[in-house]
Amino acid sequence: MLTCVLIANRGEIAARVMRTARRLGLRTVGVYSEADRTALHVREADEAHLIGPAPAAQSYLRGDVILAVAKAAGADCIHPGYGFLSENAEFAEACAAAGIVFIGPRPAAIRAMGLKDAAKALMQKAGVPVVRGYHGANQDGKFLKEKAYEIGYPVLIKAVAGGGGKGMRRVDAHADFEEALSGAQREGQASFGNGHVLIEKYIASPRHIEIQVFGDAHGNVVHLFERDCSLQRRHQKVIEEAPAPGMSADMRAAMGQAAVEAARAVGYQGAGTVEFIVDGASGLRADGFFFMEMNTRLQVEHPVTEAITGLDLVEWQFRVAAGEKLPLAQADLRINGHAVEARLYAEDPENGFLPSTGTLEELTFPLGEGIRVDAGCARLDIISPHYDPMIAKIIAHGADRTQALDRLEAALRRTIVAGPRCNVAFLAALCGSAEFRAGRFDTGFIGRNLEALGAVAQKPDAGLIATAAARLWLQGQRLLQMASGRDSAHRSPWSATDGFQLGPVRRTEFWLLVNGEKVATSITCHADELAVTVGAAGDTASVHCFPADLDRFYSQLEGVLTVRGAHYLRNGRQTDVVLFDPLDIDAETEASSDGIVVSPMHGRLVMVLVGVGDAVARGQKLAVIEAMKMEHALLAPFAGTVAEVLAGVGAQVAQGAKIVVISGD
Ligand code: ADP
Repeated sequence: MLTCVLIANRGEIAARVMRTARRLGLRTVGVYSEADRTALHVREADEAHLIGPAPAAQSYLRGDVILAVAKAAGADCIHPGYGFLSENAEFAEACAAAGIVFIGPRPAAIRAMGLKDAAKALMQKAGVPVVRGYHGANQDGKFLKEKAYEIGYPVLIKAVAGGGGKGMRRVDAHADFEEALSGAQREGQASFGNGHVLIEKYIASPRHIEIQVFGDAHGNVVHLFERDCSLQRRHQKVIEEAPAPGMSADMRAAMGQAAVEAARAVGYQGAGTVEFIVDGASGLRADGFFFMEMNTRLQVEHPVTEAITGLDLVEWQFRVAAGEKLPLAQADLRINGHAVEARLYAEDPENGFLPSTGTLEELTFPLGEGIRVDAGCARLDIISPHYDPMIAKIIAHGADRTQALDRLEAALRRTIVAGPRCNVAFLAALCGSAEFRAGRFDTGFIGRNLEALGAVAQKPDAGLIATAAARLWLQGQRLLQMASGRDSAHRSPWSATDGFQLGPVRRTEFWLLVNGEKVATSITCHADELAVTVGAAGDTASVHCFPADLDRFYSQLEGVLTVRGAHYLRNGRQTDVVLFDPLDIDAETEASSDGIVVSPMHGRLVMVLVGVGDAVARGQKLAVIEAMKMEHALLAPFAGTVAEVLAGVGAQVAQGAKIVVISGD
């Protein structure tokens, strides 16, 4: 048996692998970048080692450095998690050469499945159905465009080395082909170092259903049933479940068989996933699924399979890597109930799902029956701009789908995240959606229902802001009183609601920064109440507070106070309210909309599409920032002329940095 594992990863997956390793009696060695010095996975490891600067290419992707650490620490195996080096055949080979067990399939199997085009050709040969398309070597733009036309729009362009939905573009019309092609090539090159693409028919009403497989070194291969990962946004999974709604025994058997054949075709060992696309337009049919790709590693969504099978897949990985036989045969495997997983991200659904960074001022998860939380960070940890902004996965298991979804929805509604924006309200809305509950969904479901799911720009919660204004103002009053020594008996300005200065009607006006925007606020003190008004003319909200009642009032709000101000939460929606400090120039710049187009996040400028003097229309794309391996377009806030371009292609830009200035016509 293995005795010491190095986990070549970070975040929730590193912490999750460590849990099983510890249970099996293995010593755990963590690695971290400079940005992760105090991260959860470092705290949880028995020992941890610095491997380089923040960018993954200089740390988590440095196979040589990681191997040297493994040797020095006496690790006899390396678990790569998912992402980073998990599907890197050269790294798997280097491990073998160094006498360290790579917990994953053999390098040849990784290679065979590594590129989508070659994998499809191999599967076609093995008799596994694949989607119609062009998977060849000719990468000439004109040629590919002709192929797309022959296949018939809509088509999907996929970077052959892509993953996680990156490097993929749907094209609906011939005229849009070139732009989509260059986007897919660029993303493929930037994220995976390979700009080659394939083209395939876009399946209408597609469902993403994948099969978990496991092989050992003794020639045994089993499947652990399916997962439905159709709830996606821009081809990235959001909610996953097992089993798939509407799945018949026939289709499960056919898909399971095809997946096992796919695994056998490459002599697969360890955990793998065979992804299929299913044409859901006419219901799930045993002849209506097509091979998409095989992921030769553990998947993010493996916990739903663990929940319905009662197994620990990471334990199976360790056992297989140690040369043991698979613990169970196909006939021993059973499905128990239903499980659903939601991916909690630091991102802003109300602002195009932009990743959000910063300190997690508050982070609490509910514990409840059937609930499992795999977290990558804890309260006061920092979501950095360098990596995927996942906070945690929340998994619910129930006797049936309704119970699992009820449990997940309830858990999400009790999850508190303050600091970075997050998608918890959006996830809860998804779980509650009647169509999804009824099983009427495909991969386009989220895109079609953004508004109903609350993932559109929404007005700030005015009532909440007014309440926050009262609270902040009263806090200021209390502090003033304390400073002047008049009320030293009250230690906490928050709980003190008596001694409120009553007198003739007084009116105070000040500014708040609400989610970074300046908002006018006025407070009028009447005999025994405060009237608070926030907003500009024509768009105001008012509340009346009775100071004597404020404690009860506040207790209805989930809020977190920080030195900066307060994060208030209502129905999973976060509102930041800070007293505006006129000396805080940064905040003012951020809040300004005077034609200054700023980078919404830390990232790299990959395209600048305008020059000084160009006339631009409202909403026109000005530049493209790449951050966390996704591209984000910067748009003109109004029609005008480009007055300044402050950064060039290739520049690293900070969140809030000015990129382009537009002057109005
Ligand atoms: P990645 O490796 O980036 O995850 P995949 O090939 O697995 O890329 O595809 C990701 C998602 O894109 C799928 O889950 C599915 O929703 C969608 N997709 C892929 N191929 C097709 C297709 N031919 N037609 C429609 N949707 C597709």
